[in-house]
Amino acid sequence: MTPLQTVVMAPPVGVAARDPRPGLSALDRAALERWLVDHGQPPFRARQVHDALWGGTATRPSDVTTLPRSLAAALDAGFRWSTMAEDTIVLAEGGQTEKALHRLSDGATIESVLMHYPARQGRRARHTLCISSQAGCAVGCPFCATGELGFTRDLETAEILDQIRSAVARLGQHEGAERLTNIVFMGMGEPLLNLDRVLESVSVLNDPARLGLGARHITVSTSGVVPGIRRLTALGPQFTLAISLHAARDALRDVLVPLNRRWPVAEVVAAAREHAKKTGRRISYEVTMIGGVNDTDADADAIATLLRGDLAHVNLIPMNPVAHTPWTASPMPVIEAFAARLAGVGIPVTIRRNRGQEIGAACGQLAAEHAGQPAAPAVARRRQRLEAESARALRGQRSDEPVPAGVEG
Ligand code: SF4
Repeated sequence: MTPLQTVVMAPPVGVAARDPRPGLSALDRAALERWLVDHGQPPFRARQVHDALWGGTATRPSDVTTLPRSLAAALDAGFRWSTMAEDTIVLAEGGQTEKALHRLSDGATIESVLMHYPARQGRRARHTLCISSQAGCAVGCPFCATGELGFTRDLETAEILDQIRSAVARLGQHEGAERLTNIVFMGMGEPLLNLDRVLESVSVLNDPARLGLGARHITVSTSGVVPGIRRLTALGPQFTLAISLHAARDALRDVLVPLNRRWPVAEVVAAAREHAKKTGRRISYEVTMIGGVNDTDADADAIATLLRGDLAHVNLIPMNPVAHTPWTASPMPVIEAFAARLAGVGIPVTIRRNRGQEIGAACGQLAAEHAGQPAAPAVARRRQRLEAESARALRGQRSDEPVPAGVEG
């Protein structure tokens, strides 16, 4: 990593046990009003607290000048104003990409990435934030730095929301006080394995009294937790659903997305298709393009067969370099040929540029670097295993490895 600029937003706090106070940002208006009344305060103060949480520059209750001191002290005693103990911000691409490494009260680290897209061709400027839903991840996709880290824990609702508040506060300092326009749950973790808290966060984001971001501006990505997709379908349109597909052939997907050993790709796509049918919302399929692994004509044809005629859009993303894998991104001409094969059967497809590679914008890379490098022999063993597994997969043999621990269903 070659950081262009590092800004430490708050002094480091040496904490190991989780702070027992709940995060204030997850408290809805009614619950906050009840708490205020119980503490001898008028309910209208809830609005002042929410305005300060989502719109101001306060870093603690005592910074909010409209609140009485006694109330600020009681809020501080009862809640965490922010669940982030420390934010380290790294800028790249002339400030167009901002990666935040958030340290939580128990020392766990998570990441969010804020990407700025300037106004062009009549389109307004966009500011998209990619956030984490878990610390680490149990799914263990081998091309992903978070998969390397393993699973630490689910994030609390406030820990999800406070990544967004951190970005909103930074955007507010931009010239012209920019607003966040899009949120994608594509950072660390499998959102559908922490679905209750993801749904709680989304309802806060939709709330006009807080962020007020419409469902169309929120995307939740899953590696294929079929019961979670079905639950979302039953709830109706909540946000855009993205499926991390990466391969349409089970043998290869068993290796690239180990969850496939529990829910095979046909089952995942059938659930997603049903979701599109019931909600009328197009499904976004993500394919990380790995040179010589999942970028062949046969892979493109398998995806074409699987998705042809569906309400679907495919995004092809060159793989970010990740330590501990023997793989690199597919060359651009190969990605373009892959895209042409899909487009040729009428599947809408976009080649996405990888943002912030120099700061490790792939999910989990900063946190992996923060955690330190594993011993060289462990890396070599892992590379060898991946090479053997992918070679077997390319011969069409399904994996006999177990379903990753921590993946229920
Ligand atoms: S790609 Fe997503 S689901 Fe796979 S290991 Fe990384 S964070 Fe988990």
